[in-house]
Amino acid sequence: MSTPFPAVSFQNVQKSYGDLSALKGVSFDVRPGCFFGLLGPNGAGKSTLINCMSGLVRPTDGQVSIQGQDVIKNYREARRLVGVVPQELIADPFFSIRELLDIQSGYFALRGAAQNRWIDYLLERLALKDKSDALTHELSGGMKRRVLIAMALVHKPQVVVLDEPTAGVDVDLRKTLWDFTKSLHRQGHTIILTTHYLEEAEALCEDVAIMKGGELKALETTDALLCRHQYRYLRVKTMAPVASDALVAPLQSRLEEQDANGFLLRLEKDIAINEVLDWLGQSQVSVQDINSRDATLEEVFLDLTGEAQ
Ligand code: ADP
Repeated sequence: MSTPFPAVSFQNVQKSYGDLSALKGVSFDVRPGCFFGLLGPNGAGKSTLINCMSGLVRPTDGQVSIQGQDVIKNYREARRLVGVVPQELIADPFFSIRELLDIQSGYFALRGAAQNRWIDYLLERLALKDKSDALTHELSGGMKRRVLIAMALVHKPQVVVLDEPTAGVDVDLRKTLWDFTKSLHRQGHTIILTTHYLEEAEALCEDVAIMKGGELKALETTDALLCRHQYRYLRVKTMAPVASDALVAPLQSRLEEQDANGFLLRLEKDIAINEVLDWLGQSQVSVQDINSRDATLEEVFLDLTGEAQ
């Protein structure tokens, strides 16, 4: 599965809809075998970028290639290398799950015993085996989502793209999805994920790209992005509720949240805890406990985009 090419390469990708620039020249590579998070607020251009990979959207300018295959010039080769799980759910009135997977396999001219075994494996891993003869409109939303995943994987694509796969999905199904996605990753597949759940991205993704307004704002390993953040957070638990105007100015200006049990401070990394203890003493706060932690991806995201995910 090793290749000299990036799994995906975006070069100056632009997409305009009339006057609206959905993508303003986006360039980056996704490392082969990476679990990659593509994050950004609504309207950032994530789906447009993903749809440029699958050929659903044609860029106004720039190139997209999958393992060196240009998605427009070498459409067939590129198409074989990528499987995109879209956000929209399906409801096909005529075919069963098994038939849909057979038809999808036919698009890639994949038939025979080995392909049937792969479909059986997908049905098993995605907990769809009992439902393989059901029509899709008889399925719950969570099951429809799993059918979409199976359809995107019928041709064992090297690059698997999941667009908001866990939106509105219950905890059990999330676990099934992540266990399966992690096993694909372990087998060497590149996984590209968009998600609103930043804890998921923080736990799963090795690299993270953050987009906003059709532009790339950051692309780093998740660890580097979290480390580079210039703040850390200090939770101060107090013996009694404290009014914010009782705090000295340096605490007030760093106050992030407050409740009956205490408050959360956002501190520049170079501020010593001693200094904070002095400020707490000057404010006559009775401290019960103090807990310091680094920023979460959610906080880094907010800092870079100014918007909640
Ligand atoms: P995201 O997936 O990050 O939420 P999208 O890629 O869906 O963002 O959208 C980026 C921008 O492009 C948005 O302003 C959206 O309204 C616009 N857009 C997307 N698809 C179309 C389309 N088919 N026609 C017109 N505008 C579109």
